[in-house]
Amino acid sequence: MGAGAGMERSRIVIAGGGLAGLSLSLALKRALGDDVDVVMCDPALSRDPHGDRRSFAIAASARRMFEALGLWDKVADKAQPILDMVITDSSLQDPVRPTFLTFEGAVEGEVFAHMVTSGDLTALLLDACRDIGVNLRPEGVKGFSVRGARTDVMLAGGETISAALLVAADGARSRLREQAGIGWIFWPYNQSGIVATISHERDHEGRAVEHFLPAGPFAILPLKDEVLPDGAVRHRSSIVWSERSGNVPALLESHPEDLQAELEKRFGLQLGKIAFETKPQAYPLAFGVARSFVGERLALLGDAAHLIHPIAGQGLNLGLHDAAALAEIITDAMRLGMDPGSPDVLLQYERARRADITAMGIMTDGLNRLFSNDLLPVRLIRDFGLGLVDRMPGLKRFFIREAAGLRREDAPRLLRGEAL
Ligand SMILES: Cc1cc2nc3c(=O)[nH]c(=O)nc-3n(C[C@H](O)[C@H](O)[C@H](O)COP(=O)(O)OP(=O)(O)OC[C@H]3O[C@@H](n4cnc5c(N)ncnc54)[C@H](O)[C@@H]3O)c2cc1C
Repeated sequence: MGAGAGMERSRIVIAGGGLAGLSLSLALKRALGDDVDVVMCDPALSRDPHGDRRSFAIAASARRMFEALGLWDKVADKAQPILDMVITDSSLQDPVRPTFLTFEGAVEGEVFAHMVTSGDLTALLLDACRDIGVNLRPEGVKGFSVRGARTDVMLAGGETISAALLVAADGARSRLREQAGIGWIFWPYNQSGIVATISHERDHEGRAVEHFLPAGPFAILPLKDEVLPDGAVRHRSSIVWSERSGNVPALLESHPEDLQAELEKRFGLQLGKIAFETKPQAYPLAFGVARSFVGERLALLGDAAHLIHPIAGQGLNLGLHDAAALAEIITDAMRLGMDPGSPDVLLQYERARRADITAMGIMTDGLNRLFSNDLLPVRLIRDFGLGLVDRMPGLKRFFIREAAGLRREDAPRLLRGEAL
């Protein structure tokens, strides 16, 4: 790749084509067009995105961003709105699961979240990036070295690209964060999240269910019906089944009938007969946050900057919030003729994200500790709390606005649905 002095000033390399990195690439290219050269590097770009079996709840604020990026109509075709939500709290053996809290899925006339599969969303973002001229490189970044006003980014294939800024969107185990010497506060939860798509006989009617069980939350999240080639409709939901990590290998290797019985114990039979549509995949759960979100000509994005428990379905939404904030800060700086990798610009990003990420980390960690617990006094207190919230419409509205990402007046423009 040619690396003329003028060109590298406006080149941004993004290492990591997960949903956070792809969203940032698209946002930058849409805002700055030919004034920026966005290079996206990830060996996974050449793999089928549908290999990831997770599905995500995309909050209303992230939906607004996809609308502003011109992608929402296509995502909406594949997405299922969450129309209401039910929360229960019981132990596995309890014959009935009393409902402690219910939420309507709309906040101020807007659906608070939509469910979409990781595969569908990644494929749509990749196509949009390709169409708009993001330079997609299916190889990893091996390292980087800062030389004054540029950073030299070494690719796995041996090539070096000079850029004004390197964005590390390379996931929670970020090698680039480590190479930059940025500290990582980390603790494992001794829990894994088992994810799979489940087909069921009856329509879910857009209802999401979260059962708080002693081993961790078990979430049933509605997916869009699938229309089969013969015209028949398959009803589907995604599950996130938190389990103590020590139990997971034996569970996943157990006889299919035993696994099915364990699933039914948790899922229940309210939607009729159920079956695994995809092979269950387990993700170890942990908390992590970087001591700094920036380094010299380096910005951390998404899980490379923070890792949270999926109890509130907010990890990716935080990463999309990072992408919206960083795209805005870089765009505004470049329009003023500033260097996008300069310390002033990077400091703005650090300041814009620190409070939100810290608050979400504390909230999800606290919720997990409170709910993944079967001590009777703890259960009584939390059930009293849930019952109280259920009877207070103002408080409920507060929580739902928080989950929808609509509470912050100072949110980046993209999250308010405005173009950059
Ligand atoms: C069970 C479970 C359920 C979840 N449910 C939700 C939910 O409902 N809602 C929600 O908001 N969040 C949810 N999350 C969180 C969400 O999955 C993550 O926050 C999100 O996927 C992180 O995206 P990312 O782009 O930051 O990183 P990743 O998806 O980890 O992508 C990182 C990319 O970097 C690439 N890479 C790695 N090293 C290099 C390198 N050296 N050079 C170049 N590329 C590299 C990898 O190939 C990968 O493609 C859930 C998480 C789990 C575990």
